[in-house]
Amino acid sequence: MVITCQINQQRLWNTLLELGEIGALLEEGTTRLSLSVEDLKARQYVINLMKEAGLKVRIDAVGNIIGKLEGTVKQAPIVLTGSHIDTVFQGGIFDGALGVLGAIEAVRSIKESGFQLKHSIEVVSFTDEEGTRFGTGYIGSKAMAGELDEATFLLTDANGMTYAEAFLQAQLDPRLYKQAKREREELKAYVELHIEQGKVLEEHQLPVGIVTDIQGPIWLDVVVKGHADHAGATPMYMRKDAALAMAELMLDIEKIAKMYDGVGTVGKVNIEPGGVNIIPGLAAFSVDLRHINKESRTKMMNEVYEAINRICQKRDVHAEMDMKKAVDPTSCQVEVIEVIEESCKELDVPTMRLQCGAGHDSLIMAKLTKMGMIFVRSKEGISHNPKEWSDYEDCMIGTQVLLNTLMRLAE
Ligand SMILES: [Zn+2]
Repeated sequence: MVITCQINQQRLWNTLLELGEIGALLEEGTTRLSLSVEDLKARQYVINLMKEAGLKVRIDAVGNIIGKLEGTVKQAPIVLTGSHIDTVFQGGIFDGALGVLGAIEAVRSIKESGFQLKHSIEVVSFTDEEGTRFGTGYIGSKAMAGELDEATFLLTDANGMTYAEAFLQAQLDPRLYKQAKREREELKAYVELHIEQGKVLEEHQLPVGIVTDIQGPIWLDVVVKGHADHAGATPMYMRKDAALAMAELMLDIEKIAKMYDGVGTVGKVNIEPGGVNIIPGLAAFSVDLRHINKESRTKMMNEVYEAINRICQKRDVHAEMDMKKAVDPTSCQVEVIEVIEESCKELDVPTMRLQCGAGHDSLIMAKLTKMGMIFVRSKEGISHNPKEWSDYEDCMIGTQVLLNTLMRLAE
């Protein structure tokens, strides 16, 4: 098949900027936490855009927005593409959004060209990929893969609102979440377009890359309890300083991550009571561990547990650990990788294969269907930050590669 269908570049860019404005009014960056007022507004924007593109739109039981371009053979398995539009606190305008808006643009251009494809193509905007608000992500893709469990709805946000309540506020019935599950036979493949959020493509001076493996994250919540005493009246040898135990563990996590060639981060900390003249009696913090190899990641986690125990014993403090998330690392399907590569070739787009460090809905979708990912170069690798940027040209090339890939998969 010779693909002559072109995306409308300016139209895509306009939608990226328009969506980026939603949640950007009060502060630096864009903030659209899942199912917040801003997210709901953005969701409506996406629904309208899908309708404008001529797609048949439905919302599934967990709020995934799905727009369909009907193929000529109704029973043929569906080619699925998309990403998410929720963001972290003060995030950028490309993370997730490019994958949803790029997919809408690609499918819209195919429809406008009048090209008939055998397989239907569905564009999906997944609910709560980031997990920032309730501490656990991939809600939409997990529900679709049949991996969501009921306990998720008991989680609370910073204001004490449960996930179930947030669902009801968004006109979703949390009891029906199982209805979002799809069967393996329904789908042919899932392709996600996403910004790289790293510096590999920039280093190689390439606009797009093809993902081979995705690191799976483990998230732990750790609470260390020591004793809050007077900072003046308590000699050093008598202290049970919870913050020092945390600090020591943070340094150990760095060593462990380096030793295993993985990554480890403590990104969220809280010290109590939090007075200038009080020894910290409590330190609560998060741990994020990632590796493309599950076995290595398990070893990393075991070492972290050992370190916690060792440090607690030494400092006579006590720690509680709670695993908030554990997603297996995964590989992209060779078959889909090859279709993306072919598409790059026919478009004369130089590219490379690379690993993916961030988690994505594609990690979960790999359990349900053949999965592939197209990466677009990120400026200085900055993401989850107001400075997140991908150039116009790169976004266009990535989206055109997605279009060609979708047409090849759906022909
Ligand atoms: Zn993302």
